[in-house]
Amino acid sequence: MSWHILGAGSLGCLWAVRLARAGVPVQLILRDPQRLQAYQEAGGLCLVEQDQARLYAIPGQTLDNPEPIRRLLLACKAYDAEAAIAGLAPRLAAGAELVLLQNGLGSQDAVANLVPQARCIYASSTEGAFRQKDFQVVFAGHGHTWLGDPLKLEPPTWLAELKSSGIVHDWSLDILSRLWRKLALNCAINPLTVLYDCRNGGLREHPAEVASLCNELGELLQSCGQSLAAEDLHGEVQRVIQATAANYSSMHQDVSQGRRTEIAYLLGYACAAAQRHRLVLPHLQALHSRLLGHLHARGLPSH
Ligand code: NAP
Repeated sequence: MSWHILGAGSLGCLWAVRLARAGVPVQLILRDPQRLQAYQEAGGLCLVEQDQARLYAIPGQTLDNPEPIRRLLLACKAYDAEAAIAGLAPRLAAGAELVLLQNGLGSQDAVANLVPQARCIYASSTEGAFRQKDFQVVFAGHGHTWLGDPLKLEPPTWLAELKSSGIVHDWSLDILSRLWRKLALNCAINPLTVLYDCRNGGLREHPAEVASLCNELGELLQSCGQSLAAEDLHGEVQRVIQATAANYSSMHQDVSQGRRTEIAYLLGYACAAAQRHRLVLPHLQALHSRLLGHLHARGLPSH
């Protein structure tokens, strides 16, 4: 059975190439005829691994192609997910399965609500890739992908296909806990790296601020029924800061390159959840306001 992959960006390319070279049929979905034409002119997707670039002529199509979709990997940014799925919904076959690769929280539920006829599998990935130019992606960091369905514990039948494609993964029985934990780590680190304009390691100079944020995030996780995700959050944040000291966070990279961030699905989502639970989390809320101001001053969207 064919995989359709929406989004010929970093992760979309990484998945498409690995599935295709393991012999799994893949179709890439591009947003419009102009993008499809540009893709065809490029001759396919180029993946750079260990400094070696290789071109893969994976077939492409546009959103409005009539072919039915049974398995879809949604590999766009969180802020594009709802609109992309709204455009594809009429193509989803009965019993279609969707893998949602978006970072943060909020977009997955929005997508699942739009397509109640499909099974939505949420993913959380530590793989790293970036676009060198259009349709050319560098596989920057090997990692792991967790997949899970908040509504159904049974794994899908195609996990073996991922394994034979070299996509290192596990089926998670509590994917929401993983997504919350990742969101909390992100909220404790990424916004401060933007505001202090520093690498992750620069946060070692702001230990009290990091500790207060971790306390409040822990309180939020507890209130949201995510006590497992709250366990030793501060310890893990400190370990991540140490282990990735030389790196710029993804949010820092987005802001410094003038790109839209996924703030609404990360810190914005956390602050909205705090408000729903009537929690007063002054450090988290002040961080959100400062970040919104910072983005506004640079002409970047706050949603
Ligand atoms: P990306 O490189 O920006 O790629 C997103 C792709 O989606 C772009 O090619 C974009 O098309 C396409 N797209 C958006 N709306 C579309 C539509 N309606 N129809 C067709 N294509 C559409 O993003 P990414 O880095 O792969 O990130 C995807 C998600 O994975 C994000 O939530 C990110 O946080 C998460 N993630 C990324 C990494 C990583 O290392 N990159 C790691 C972990 C998690 P255009 O090119 O035409 O704009």
